[in-house]
Amino acid sequence: MRKLSRFYIDGHWVTPLAGSESKVFEVYSPITELLSGQVLLGSSGDVDNAVRAAKKALETFSATSKLERIELLRRIAEEYRKRHDDFSEAVAEEIGCPPWLAKDGQFTLPEMHLKAGIDLLGSYQFEHTQGTTLIRQQPVGVCGLITPWNWPILQIMVKLAPALATGCTVVWKPSEYSSFSAQILAEVLDAAAVPPGVFNMVFGDGSCVGHAISSHADVAMVSVTGSTRAGIEVARQAAFTVKRVHQELGGKGPNILLEDADFETAITSGVQYVMLNSGQNCTSPTRLLVPRSRLDEAEAIAMKVATGMKVGPPEAEAMIGPVANKQQWERVQHMIQRGIDEGARLVLGGTGRPEGVERGYFVRPTIFSDVSNQMAIAQEEIFGPVLSIIPYDSVEDAISMANDSEFGLAAYVHSARHDAAMQVASRIVSGQIYINGDMNLYDVTVPFGGRKMSGNGKEFGAAGFDAFTESVAYLGFGTAS
Ligand code: NAD
Repeated sequence: MRKLSRFYIDGHWVTPLAGSESKVFEVYSPITELLSGQVLLGSSGDVDNAVRAAKKALETFSATSKLERIELLRRIAEEYRKRHDDFSEAVAEEIGCPPWLAKDGQFTLPEMHLKAGIDLLGSYQFEHTQGTTLIRQQPVGVCGLITPWNWPILQIMVKLAPALATGCTVVWKPSEYSSFSAQILAEVLDAAAVPPGVFNMVFGDGSCVGHAISSHADVAMVSVTGSTRAGIEVARQAAFTVKRVHQELGGKGPNILLEDADFETAITSGVQYVMLNSGQNCTSPTRLLVPRSRLDEAEAIAMKVATGMKVGPPEAEAMIGPVANKQQWERVQHMIQRGIDEGARLVLGGTGRPEGVERGYFVRPTIFSDVSNQMAIAQEEIFGPVLSIIPYDSVEDAISMANDSEFGLAAYVHSARHDAAMQVASRIVSGQIYINGDMNLYDVTVPFGGRKMSGNGKEFGAAGFDAFTESVAYLGFGTAS
């Protein structure tokens, strides 16, 4: 059993403040349901200490050269690679990720972002002139980073790499459910000799440590990835100190197949992505919109693909593991039941565990058809392996249903005619839109981020760097003296 009882503050491993309201969070294995770890959670006093260290370190770190920061990020990348097995084991243990995914995507995607940050830093323009004015992109300051458990290292790396690259210092609160992998990342930064105070980590829950970070007067920016509920709370807490708030929140991706689309390819990749990581992805295409006349065909392909995906514990060499925790399992069960109660046609899966699985937070891959876009299973983020197939009567109807959602994170459009797909895509309100493509087109250098209730601000690439900088104008810079 893992026992985590120290935070990383000012370059040291420190115990929680004595006499504080710190409490123990118990982590249960999603595979066995047995206790797998205990994490000591911090208090607002621990956050104060971390912010103080970050504020002090900012004075020197914000003035470092690009070259110094490139060197620092390279050291982090080197240390990161050394811990591949530790990360994979930790992610598999804390969220029940199947070994193939824990060893591959959960480790390699963060690494891709780190390397992309190093590459970009060389060419990123921190200053330019406009007439007689010098405009400088300065680090925004001390950044509070708050992350979820579903892709635990990816979600911090997309914030941490650009924050450090641009000269910011940070205080990170990982999800309490993914503290095992967070501990290893903090060890990586320590081994990479990150200057004291530049990177700080405090374990904690949202209502205490998350609240203390987002409301702290010396935190200039808070960047949160999580549910829309948490994003709203963070913004509310941050409002009184007028800090920059960056939100990466929920999604309910529409996947529109036009009449002439390659159904076999599009539905295969769509279903695979809905089921990946047990459906715990904010960008999954969970609403499959197909012409009503092709509904049977779409159902048949989706069922074939999902039926071929084995669910179960790692020893069964399963493709799909459990969802991450009990609360998540109960929510997914509740949503499947709601779909049944609302009259959606269940074509695969349903409530309860998959056949032959006796324990663990495993969910049956579930497909509903004849779903109306008004149903809760089409409107709410389920965050489980559940697909809703929604028939449409005209392309106008499909576009209107795609946009009839509070979310706008990722969308997908398929057609044999590129211009037809683009015409539809241009009318969808979403941060990213995949044209005839699946997640293999994932690009760490193009802007990523939601519209509507899916968030505010962009991550990845130059847009991700911009998010951690503040433009400062020096007027009269170019005036002859
Ligand atoms: P969550 O909202 O419960 O928690 C996310 C983080 O916010 C955690 O660290 C949590 O402790 C913290 N938090 C919660 N309440 C807070 C508060 N009042 N103040 C400050 N911090 C608070 O989300 P989760 O269950 O960890 O993750 C799943 C959610 O994350 C899903 O909704 C998913 O769509 C979303 N997500 C979004 C993206 C994206 O890039 N848009 C990526 C991954 C996950």
